[in-house]
Amino acid sequence: MKHFLRQGLALLSALLCAAASAIGPAPDLSGPACLRSAYPEFWAPGAEDALVSRSGQHFVFDAHKDHLAYADLLNQADLKSQLTQPYAAGFPARVPERHQDPGRIRAQPFFTSMYGSTPAEVQRHVVPVPWAPSGRTLHFTRLNGAAQALERVGRTLAEDAHTAAYVRRPAGSLLWRRIAGTERLSMHALGAAVDFSLPRGLGRYWQWSGCTESGPCRYPVAVLQDPTLQRVVDAFEKEGFIWGGKWAHFDTVHFEFRPELVGPACTL
Ligand SMILES: [Zn+2]
Repeated sequence: MKHFLRQGLALLSALLCAAASAIGPAPDLSGPACLRSAYPEFWAPGAEDALVSRSGQHFVFDAHKDHLAYADLLNQADLKSQLTQPYAAGFPARVPERHQDPGRIRAQPFFTSMYGSTPAEVQRHVVPVPWAPSGRTLHFTRLNGAAQALERVGRTLAEDAHTAAYVRRPAGSLLWRRIAGTERLSMHALGAAVDFSLPRGLGRYWQWSGCTESGPCRYPVAVLQDPTLQRVVDAFEKEGFIWGGKWAHFDTVHFEFRPELVGPACTL
C-alpha cells in the first residue's frame, strides 16, 4: 500500500512539474521581440531579431535618444524610448510622477508606417465596431486585432448597467488631427484611440487644467479612486489598451491601443 502511495505521489509530483513547465513564467520579451509580439500583422515573418515591416521598411530599435530632454523625446522618439516608461496596469494606481507618461512617448514613423500616413491610408484598415454599452458604432483600425479587442471591451462593460453608463457616450475615435499644440499626429488620426465623455467630472485633461508641457501640474487624484472608472480601465487594459489617466499629462477620457505596454511579457 505504502509502495503504491509513494508511486502515486511521485506521479502526481511529475504531473505538477510538467504542468508548471507547460504554463511556465511569461517569457521576458525585451525590446524588438516585444514589438514583434505586440504587433504581429506589421512585421515581416522570419527574421526574429530584425525589425523589418511586411512592406520592407527597416526600423532601428535604438537610435540613441537617451540624452534627449523629455520635451524633445516626445517629438523624436525611437522604438526604444517608446518602451522606456513602464505602464502599470491595474489598481490601486499611483499618482504619476512628473513626466511619467507611459505610452505618450511614441515613435511616430512606426505608427504611421503601420496604420497609414494619410487619411486614405488609415481608412483602408478602419472598420465599424459595434459598441455594446450604447449600441453606437465606433470606427477603429482592425490591424493587430485592435477592432476586435475594442468590441470585446464593449461587451464586457455592457454586462453591468452602471459601468456601461460611464462609456455610453463616445467622444471621438477616428479623426484626422494633430495633438493639440504640437505637430505630432494623434492616435485618433490613425484609428487607434477612443475618447468617452465620462460622468461626474471624471473627464480631465491637463491642457484644460492650467498645466503646461514642462511646468508642474496638479494631478486630479479623484480619477484614480472611482471604482466604476477603475472597472472601465481594467477592461480596456486587459485587451491591450492604455488609459491616459495614468499620465502626469493626464487625459482621462482617452484609451489607446498599445499592446506593447500592457502585455504581461513586454519589458525592456
Ligand atoms: Zn483621445
